[in-house]
Amino acid sequence: MTAEEILAKLSQAGHRITRQRTVVVEIVADSTCLQSAEEIYRRCKERDDSISFPTIYRTLDMLVESDVVRRLHFGRGRSWYEPVRRHGHHHHLACLECGAVAPVDACPGQLILEAAGRYGFKVLDHQFEILGICKECQEKELSVG
Ligand SMILES: [Zn+2]
Ligand SMILES: [Zn+2]
Ligand SMILES: [Zn+2]
Repeated sequence: MTAEEILAKLSQAGHRITRQRTVVVEIVADSTCLQSAEEIYRRCKERDDSISFPTIYRTLDMLVESDVVRRLHFGRGRSWYEPVRRHGHHHHLACLECGAVAPVDACPGQLILEAAGRYGFKVLDHQFEILGICKECQEKELSVG
């Protein structure tokens, strides 16, 4: 979803569209993949210095509840956000050293659906993030050690 589409959906749902909320929506919608809460905060501040962290956090909550943004949790208690239904279903490789996140198109969903089916469970969504150390960080470690 584009920023305009997200803002239209929020306004239809009766949310007030403030300038600060618009900035948060634009920063999140602008990304093709995950951004951490810290990254979103930094980029929002660059655009509007009057935005506080609670405002950003509340707006992100609202976006998640409105089902326009996806929130994931992994890597030292970090929260990550990406717009939904923009770039197709995908998973992530996440570096625990530098926080870099790369999308991967491969999906183990079929296995999960089959396993869930055996429990009579209705699957709505699934998350599968691969945590580790990216190539650059591995090379850095080698050159230091
Ligand atoms: Zn992604
Ligand atoms: Zn890394
Ligand atoms: Zn999947």
